[in-house]
Amino acid sequence: MEEKMRFIDLRSDTVTIPTAEMRIAMANAAVGDDVYREDPTVNKLEEKAAMLLGKERALFVSSGTMGNLLAILVTCKAGDEVIMGNQGHTFLHEVGGMSALGGIFPNTLPNQPDGTLDLAMVARAIRGEDIHEPRTRMVIIENTQNQCGGVPISLTYMQQLSQLARENELFLHVDGARIFNAAAALQCSAKDLVQTADSVTFCLSKGLCAPVGSVLCGPQDFIEEARRFRKMLGGGMRQVGILAAAGIIALDNMVERLSEDHRRATVLAEQLSQIPGFSLSKGKPQSNMVFLQVDHTVYPDLAVIAEQLKKESILIGFSGPDEIRIVTHYWVSDLDVQHVVRVWQNLQP
Ligand SMILES: *Cc1c(COP(=O)(O)O)cnc(C)c1O
Repeated sequence: MEEKMRFIDLRSDTVTIPTAEMRIAMANAAVGDDVYREDPTVNKLEEKAAMLLGKERALFVSSGTMGNLLAILVTCKAGDEVIMGNQGHTFLHEVGGMSALGGIFPNTLPNQPDGTLDLAMVARAIRGEDIHEPRTRMVIIENTQNQCGGVPISLTYMQQLSQLARENELFLHVDGARIFNAAAALQCSAKDLVQTADSVTFCLSKGLCAPVGSVLCGPQDFIEEARRFRKMLGGGMRQVGILAAAGIIALDNMVERLSEDHRRATVLAEQLSQIPGFSLSKGKPQSNMVFLQVDHTVYPDLAVIAEQLKKESILIGFSGPDEIRIVTHYWVSDLDVQHVVRVWQNLQP
């Protein structure tokens, strides 16, 4: 029953397939119509998620993109403004949904190398009561911050950002697609990490291995409103307990093991950065991502690297013109890591 992926797929943790245990839970899930709130498995997942993140309520959504979009749509009216990082997923990879569907305006600030937004810059970016200006309603922080190296954002920073948000009556949303990776990296609980935030989205379908879904957590009235917007966007699903069943296993059994992925990322980083032509472009990995700068003079064509690796059943991703991104996850074992290092050592320019 346990399925092994044919490739050692290091492109992303989104490629994870469900475990055998998840498949069984899915097959046996009690289901009902979730639009009527009658799916017991979805209800159970939402209660569990709310509890784990320390929020009043939670909502199962089809993707992280939908979770972030709902948070913005609930919080902002057309013409309002959201402060976010210019290296953030919400700005870069969510198809501009907030503007296209909500008429909401992103005010992007540069992410610092550690993934944070400079607090003084955030303070300056918040608008006053000037009739010429949009109203700043919200700030979004991504944790772990993917583009900056899969870096966890510290508890202290989260508290400082929250205080600034509160002083200015801004809603603080965490794009916590990998919040459990952040918590594992910081050796704290996800609950503590988002305690000072108003809402958080996290993904079940990445390192946690569930096939589909994310969860948006926040205050009761906020989640009620998010449920309306979810329906509006066509995200009101029916016997979706089939999917939520895998999410429950993800929360019960897959959170504790994430530090294994982090350990393997560290091994890969140490080994691969010793090979001529490759260096760590974003420092030592702090979670499950390794970013390698490729020396153009040694390897003029990155596609040649990808081809050679693919012949050895290894898939990698690219995050810039001369940058490779490698992501570890449940389906990458210690043996796989050894294989990758061995193959990499024999690459030909
Ligand atoms: C994956 C991801 C999301 C959500 O992506 P979906 O593909 O819509 O689930 C949001 N934020 C970050 C940082 C992500 O990595």
